[in-house]
Amino acid sequence: MLGRIPDYHIHTTFSCDSETAMVTACDMASLRGLKEIGFADHADFEPLDECCGYFRPDDYLAEIRRCMIAYGDLLTIRAGVEIGEGHIYKQEAADLLRRPFDFVLASLHWVGGRPAFDARYFADQTLDGGLRAYFEEMAKLAANADYDVLAHFDLVRRAVYQVYGLSTVDYTPYEEVIRHTLKTVVKRGKGLEINTSSCWKGMGDPNPTQQVLQWYREVGGEILVFGSDAHRFDAIGLDFDVALDMVRLAGFTRLAKFQRRHVSWIDI
Ligand SMILES: [Zn+2]
Ligand SMILES: [Zn+2]
Repeated sequence: MLGRIPDYHIHTTFSCDSETAMVTACDMASLRGLKEIGFADHADFEPLDECCGYFRPDDYLAEIRRCMIAYGDLLTIRAGVEIGEGHIYKQEAADLLRRPFDFVLASLHWVGGRPAFDARYFADQTLDGGLRAYFEEMAKLAANADYDVLAHFDLVRRAVYQVYGLSTVDYTPYEEVIRHTLKTVVKRGKGLEINTSSCWKGMGDPNPTQQVLQWYREVGGEILVFGSDAHRFDAIGLDFDVALDMVRLAGFTRLAKFQRRHVSWIDI
């Protein structure tokens, strides 16, 4: 079963923060028995981000095409991209997405000039204030960006873990804004990613938490994909067994896959 689940969040040398060659990632995925993968290198337009301006989309898509030919039927390879703050950098994202991508991950890495992924996020705000600001910005991203799947819905948990040592957070105080965002995702025909990097980095459950996944199910959410967020080849496909237990527990019976931004399904 696990081999049939695509890993739709793999970074390569086309991201500023990965040294994994695309062919190495393909080799590793094949070795681990995966039948399908999706590359999702960073397209960042936020000037504070270290990857800002680094992405070369045409070279990236050409390299993906070379891998598709080289791996043929052994491995289905999809061309994804992870766009940071696509609700703010709308024109840049639109220019990028004139190209034939298979899927688009929407990410929120920066909120009000603070990085939501590390301790700096809470340097000058409280836990409650920071979480609320994060989820309010996520609502805007979900409503206004062009994407297929919201990536690492509670990425801010990385900052929480670093500052407060908490591997999980009860989001009940933010339930209203989170449910509103999830409804927006459903209404727009978009989906959520189950990002396993928090697992393999030792920071607890996949991202988002079971609580958020349950709310997504309750508001009619259907589209789910898995992503390891591998920045190194050895993280590809990691902890998908944990993610699978999680989505089954929430009542989901299938996962999504994408081609040219159209959904098809994998029964689980
Ligand atoms: Zn990300
Ligand atoms: Zn990523």
